Amino acid sequence: AAATAVVVHRRMRSAARWARVTAIMKDFEEKCGTSIENLKQVADAMNLEMHNGLASDSGDATKLKMLISYVDNLPTGNEKGLFYALDLGGTNFRVLRVQLGGKGGGIVNQEFAEVSIPSDLMVGTSEALFDFIAAELAKFVDQEGEDFQLPPGRQRELGFTFSFPVMQSSIASGNLIRWTKGFSIDNTVGQDIVAELTRAMERRGVDMRVSALVNDTVGTLARGRYSNRDVVAAVILGTGTNAAYVEHAHAIPKLDGLLPKSGEMVINMEWGGFRSLHHPLTEYDHALDAESLNPGEQIFEKMISGMYLGEIVRRVLCRMAEEASIFGDTIPPKLEVPFILRTPDMSAMHHDTSSDLKVVDNKLKNILEIPDTSLEIREVVVELCNIVATRGARLAAAGIMGILMKLQRDTINDGEKQMTVVALDGGLYEHYTEFRKCLQNTLKELLGEEVSQSIVFEHSKDGSGIGAALLAASHSRYLELDES
Ligand code: BGC
Ligand code: MG
Repeated sequence: AAATAVVVHRRMRSAARWARVTAIMKDFEEKCGTSIENLKQVADAMNLEMHNGLASDSGDATKLKMLISYVDNLPTGNEKGLFYALDLGGTNFRVLRVQLGGKGGGIVNQEFAEVSIPSDLMVGTSEALFDFIAAELAKFVDQEGEDFQLPPGRQRELGFTFSFPVMQSSIASGNLIRWTKGFSIDNTVGQDIVAELTRAMERRGVDMRVSALVNDTVGTLARGRYSNRDVVAAVILGTGTNAAYVEHAHAIPKLDGLLPKSGEMVINMEWGGFRSLHHPLTEYDHALDAESLNPGEQIFEKMISGMYLGEIVRRVLCRMAEEASIFGDTIPPKLEVPFILRTPDMSAMHHDTSSDLKVVDNKLKNILEIPDTSLEIREVVVELCNIVATRGARLAAAGIMGILMKLQRDTINDGEKQMTVVALDGGLYEHYTEFRKCLQNTLKELLGEEVSQSIVFEHSKDGSGIGAALLAASHSRYLELDES
């Protein structure tokens, strides 16, 4: 009889736990809900903020910055010569050399090297970071083969893709507003990024001149435009998230006296800093934000981008472990380690199609050191991944909708309809299939079947580096020499 009592007690306990798991999940799902009405409000708010940001610089971290890129001409296809690029932004940086063939020639030759940035350098000093970069550049230049020849007497020219908010003062200068993603280096903030890099190159004896400083969204837009005239916007969905698009100069009051001949200006929106009251944060988002390197900042980014999605899932699982003992009587220690569950692992679990969710089981074992989970528990994990990815993708779609609304408004009198192409890049977009599908479907849902046929998404793989090289070419100091 005693034994039976124990069994009954255990069953009751497990039923109570399970009810608690379900309750946590339901509550989370509800709070992550993004109805179409809700998304339309987000898109409207984005659109409104775009107007505000173009009117003046507010300095408010929760407003859209709408930064002027000083790119008023996108690549035409006539770019010619050997140019370099440096792409710094996430966990890796790349150096590239690109031989451009001029009119009709396209990209004749390219080479790149990729280096991961030691994590201590992301939170160290400005000198240490830029010295490391300059050293890698020096190596890259030293290894140059005969396929790449600079005309004699010329200095190497570099397009610098720097994927953080920068207040530019020209095409090749600008001060860092703040770090984002995993970076936090106090003495870089407020400094001219090109001057920082140039000084480091001088210390290292690298003879190179920065001729364009660009955000990765702007680089991606340039790369997209180089091969497709209809590209008018670019979106990055990677470690961080952001968008850039081509705006009419007359629609940018804060341009003031600066009136580009082309009548256009590429705007780096810095949409990661967007915060709309129409998508309230859950308690998990609040905690993530409060414990992040940049509390109160990049709220849109923290709900969408690759740096954070896995971390949100981990936080909900942690709650389930604490309050519902989902993984047994103690909380698995690894589960309490911030950022241990990376978004690529979350994606792998989300895409697990095996009947016993083998991938989920492996990830739980190998990453979180949680042995032997039941199928039900693995299903909970997959469902959590789904909730978090879906919210992120749908919010990103609302952001794109906001841009399309802005573009449409200005071209509504133009009469004939054009294709609108959005260049996209970033690991999240490239590798997280469910995220990408959800993004596309949601945009269709928002636009309606007919309109959505004139909107095209184009993957611009690693476009940000090449785009910077293209912009270095169109801003080359030797341009007139070459043209004459
Ligand atoms: C940065 C942007 C960048 C984006 C994607 C964000 O954290 O603020 O400048 O474009 O990440 O890399
Ligand atoms: Mg990047």
